[in-house]
Amino acid sequence: MNTHASPKAPLSPADGHLDERSRRARVEPMSVLALGDGLYEVESGSGATYLIDVEAGRCTCPDHVFRNVRCKHLRRVAIEITEGRTPPPGQLALECHDCETAVFVDERTPEPVYCDDHAISPGDTVRDRETGSRLTVVDASDLRADHVQIREADCTVAEYGTNETYDPDVPVVGAIYPHASVRRHGPVPESLKVYVFPRTRLERVPTDS
Ligand SMILES: [Zn+2]
Ligand SMILES: [Zn+2]
Repeated sequence: MNTHASPKAPLSPADGHLDERSRRARVEPMSVLALGDGLYEVESGSGATYLIDVEAGRCTCPDHVFRNVRCKHLRRVAIEITEGRTPPPGQLALECHDCETAVFVDERTPEPVYCDDHAISPGDTVRDRETGSRLTVVDASDLRADHVQIREADCTVAEYGTNETYDPDVPVVGAIYPHASVRRHGPVPESLKVYVFPRTRLERVPTDS
């Protein structure tokens, strides 16, 4: 199609301000912290902190409050969410229990949280931090260590022996010693017993080590 190129309209002063705000939103030093409930705290380079409600498009800074503009703080939060550097509304950035990786999780997710390298699921090999033994995970549960009873002992997983040094409000994990083997039609050996641990007592072992 052969259309006449319309001459570019000169930037109005308002457009100039918009461009300047986008540039500053991108390049100025600011730190963004997701607080939950769709709220973010932005600390500017000068040390001032503002509260941003990103879905409502509101900020507590003078530029927004008195001039009612989409300020650089709002823009910065939006940019960081888009680029995956800040969690979107409904999520928080928490540190992995076993390393310092930030993990974006639903804001109702209880701690501890784990990154992809440290999350465990059935079949994974883990190390018992108390004994150094390696075990194979058979069940990763949502039940808490202080809510699960150990049948043989008259106490909860959280109260059992050395588990007392671990947080009682973490989920439990069932695991077996991996050298356990079952003979065809043979009795299930004692070594196939599933032991239940507080999640934080176990550490994922990379499969190639
Ligand atoms: Zn602002
Ligand atoms: Zn990790």
